[in-house]
Amino acid sequence: MSAPAEEEYDAIVIGSGFGGCLAALPLVEAGASVLMLERGDWVVRGEHNWREEGAFVLTPHYTTESAYARRTPMGWRQQGLCACVGGPSVFYGGASFRFREADFDTAPEISTDPAACWPLGYAELEPFYGRVEKVLGIAGEPGVDPTEPARSQPYGHRSPPLATVATRIAEAANSLGLRPFRIPMAIDAARCHSCTTCDAFACAVSAKNDLATRLIPGMLARGMVLRPSTVVTRLGRSGSRVAFVDAVDAKTEARLRFRGELIVLAAGALATPHLLLASGLQNVSPGGSVIGRYLMRHCNAMTYGFFRSPPNAEDEHHKQLAIHDFYFGDPRLPDLGKLGNIQQVMAPPTGLVRALLPKALAVPVGALVANLTGLLVIAEDQPRSVNRVEVDSAVKDRFGLPGARIRHRYSRRDFAARAALVRRAREILRRAGSRFSLTWNVSTFSHAVGTVRMGNDARASALDRDCRFRGIDNLWVTDGSVFPTSGGVNPSLTIAANALRVGTVLTRTA
Ligand SMILES: Cc1cc2nc3c(=O)[nH]c(=O)nc-3n(C[C@H](O)[C@H](O)[C@H](O)COP(=O)(O)OP(=O)(O)OC[C@H]3O[C@@H](n4cnc5c(N)ncnc54)[C@H](O)[C@@H]3O)c2cc1C
Repeated sequence: MSAPAEEEYDAIVIGSGFGGCLAALPLVEAGASVLMLERGDWVVRGEHNWREEGAFVLTPHYTTESAYARRTPMGWRQQGLCACVGGPSVFYGGASFRFREADFDTAPEISTDPAACWPLGYAELEPFYGRVEKVLGIAGEPGVDPTEPARSQPYGHRSPPLATVATRIAEAANSLGLRPFRIPMAIDAARCHSCTTCDAFACAVSAKNDLATRLIPGMLARGMVLRPSTVVTRLGRSGSRVAFVDAVDAKTEARLRFRGELIVLAAGALATPHLLLASGLQNVSPGGSVIGRYLMRHCNAMTYGFFRSPPNAEDEHHKQLAIHDFYFGDPRLPDLGKLGNIQQVMAPPTGLVRALLPKALAVPVGALVANLTGLLVIAEDQPRSVNRVEVDSAVKDRFGLPGARIRHRYSRRDFAARAALVRRAREILRRAGSRFSLTWNVSTFSHAVGTVRMGNDARASALDRDCRFRGIDNLWVTDGSVFPTSGGVNPSLTIAANALRVGTVLTRTA
């Protein structure tokens, strides 16, 4: 077998999602030579994005090619990954929340582990939240969210008018004494067609400010080199440095080797610990035993209310409102403490429901869909060491990557927090006129975080407060893996703000 071709850069960034792009941005702006390696390919845009087959789990960008398996009550099941240029941002819902100030502190009802605490506070991240909101073009309306953290600058864009169905939900929530507010969204209102195929679909008209639309083209214009369809398989160590990064071209199967002064690993909270463990780097870190552990993914559910007539007859985009009145707890259940977020979610398209459900259910459930509108509840979950990603060396994929096994079970408290939010969501839907509601517990890893946490205690966290990997001088991790706790809001803006903070530190190192 011939030796792989080698290339050298100032920085190599693995993964083109939020953690990879926002860490790369300051380096690119500072004129460093940056190579970004991305497992997936570009998502082609066009009208097909709006059709049922555009839902990300039905596209080739949802890959089951590597041996990722998750433990379920029925045994081991294949777990897919969302791999494309821009990562899942291309298919995401665009909800762009900052963590609340208190999310950075220890909450005893969430964890009594002293390492389950952020080594930095909100004030340190605030300027980076502001910059990321600008870069991603976030639209929002400050001042209504009762838990809103302090801001040093307003949103750059205003939220578009409420859809009819969102007005109905707002009135229902107000009449219950709640304070609904606008979800800060990464959507360009001037381009948006206000369609209902947004969350879980790529945008055909580039109105969603995902990374492939909004950020990567500009970074390429400034000289960044992107290598799509390139699967990183190993970080090779020499002493206390990553000496090379091995990868395989997914199209040609050519073996590749890259060298970089700085290495930024941002392959997502499942793939990052997998790559670290597959490369044996746990053996050189004092905090190596936590790598892969403390996997969190929020305890989420979608509650759909059934209405006598279609509540969104106008077919408008309506992921617009959130409710944080129970974010820090529900007075009816004071012992539970922090709970999380309730936000609008659109009913999936009828055709998609029919395509995904077993035949016997497809027709009757498909017929109900037009009469539904929903609320997603996001409950903060507990970081527990038993929830983990581990390497399964018994299997290998065609790239030579060993398998990954994912074990995750929610705690009793996670379930209780979710149930409390679901009860409140049902009340709102009932007040809005729903006849009955259906709840679907979310089982995906779309909000996975926590598997390579940062912290001040070298034995209890694999990364220091600047996300440098302990034991390796030139390796940083910047994706959702770094979270010590999951907070109660969608994670992408916090991943992005933290990655931008780390990237800024790296410009002083480069
Ligand atoms: C349908 C959907 C809707 C969502 N909606 C929202 C929302 O509204 N708001 C929100 O805040 N969050 C949302 N999320 C979650 C959000 O997308 C994730 O939290 C976020 O993308 C995680 O960022 P990351 O940097 O940790 O990793 P990712 O964004 O997952 O990036 C990791 C990248 O690394 C690549 N990679 C993996 N392995 C390798 C390898 N071996 N070699 C090279 N590259 C590799 C992957 O292909 C991927 O592009 C949603 C997710 C999904 C799936």
